[in-house]
Amino acid sequence: MGHESGDELIVNIAGRINTILRTSDTLGRFGGDEFIILMKNTSDISSIQQLMIRISDLFSKGCQIRNRNFLISVSMGIAIYPEDGDTPSLLIKNSDTAMYHSKQNGKNTYTFHTKSMNQIAEYQVKLEEQLNKALQLHELKVFYQPQIDIASRKLIGFEALARWHNSELGEVPPDEFIPLTEQTNLIVQIGEFVLDQALMQLSIWQKMQGQPLKMAINFSPRQFYDPSLFSMIETTLAKHKLSANSLEIEITEGLLMSKNSHVFDTLTRLRAYDIMITMDDFGTGYSSLSYLNRYPFNMIKIDRSFIKNLTTDTQSQHLVSSIITMTHGIGYKVTAEGVENVDQLNILSRLQCDYAQGYYFGKPSSAEAICQKYL
Ligand code: C2E
Ligand code: CA
Ligand code: CA
Repeated sequence: MGHESGDELIVNIAGRINTILRTSDTLGRFGGDEFIILMKNTSDISSIQQLMIRISDLFSKGCQIRNRNFLISVSMGIAIYPEDGDTPSLLIKNSDTAMYHSKQNGKNTYTFHTKSMNQIAEYQVKLEEQLNKALQLHELKVFYQPQIDIASRKLIGFEALARWHNSELGEVPPDEFIPLTEQTNLIVQIGEFVLDQALMQLSIWQKMQGQPLKMAINFSPRQFYDPSLFSMIETTLAKHKLSANSLEIEITEGLLMSKNSHVFDTLTRLRAYDIMITMDDFGTGYSSLSYLNRYPFNMIKIDRSFIKNLTTDTQSQHLVSSIITMTHGIGYKVTAEGVENVDQLNILSRLQCDYAQGYYFGKPSSAEAICQKYL
């Protein structure tokens, strides 16, 4: 078709790739039909994979040049600093080698330069494949971890934590699979499942115990973009004949950073309905204090990284002490998570922290084990 058509194709492709990059990424044409993308601050493999998949999708649509439709393929290679090279030329060379692997493997694919990266990438693909079937195969379960009132040392409720046992992959920790479900809408279904299971258990335990226990449940930002979230929660509470204040929703700052007015409205509605709202992992992330004022919380949960050093590090003690004073000052309660020994508990008690949760009281356990131990 001649050089000019070739140029048109190159310009067209460059424009498409540019639309899906972040402003901090750099796109360059290296020569001929070769492009280079320089991505900064990209530590996790799965976000690189996501980008590779999105680039492949750009190509799958074909390309119209001078009223003719062309199918074009793309081969990608990835090199990561500093593992795959600590100079620009070495990184380029190694990504090039990886790219040739993709060509050999039939094009339309991507390859990491480091072998172990490819193994991780393959594992991610496998994980996703299996995860899609996990709910239907009843592989997901909910575990429960006790929460204690520090002053009276009495059980006040539980945090529900998702567990996944896959027949091929074995036990997969939630830190691994929850982020994957957040990339698709799967988290909405899993969230519904966890809520339903946990509230069913709670209603049984409340009856056994004859006193109001509460259930804390983690919610991902993506669940808040589901317009039926509020009605789903309302229906599930009614189904298990529970009052709204026996449910505590744990959210992280990631949700608030979106500054989406819909998120604010949903949280306000949940709060007005008397559902409790906790800011989880407080102290990590950006911890903008303005969030505490702007959003309708009841409680903050101090991240376990602060509790870990409580007995050895006076800096951590000052920090935890200040967080507790500040939080009480604006009228919210405080839970400490990751309490592993009595020394940590004693310090928290002295600092007038309200509630505690951690291995010292009990690891997350199955409903049956909880029944035997606490009820
Ligand atoms: P998280 O909400 O911060 O949950 C607390 C984590 O700390 C749990 O890890 C728990 O097992 C662990 N932990 C509790 N006590 C101690 C302790 O004394 N010492 C130490 N070292 N660790 C302790 P887990 O169960 O692996 O969960 C990891 C994360 O996965 C959770 O962090 C939460 O962000 C997410 N997650 C778990 N279940 C769900 C779910 O149903 N929905 C959503 N959206 N996220 C979930
Ligand atoms: Ca939590
Ligand atoms: Ca936490």
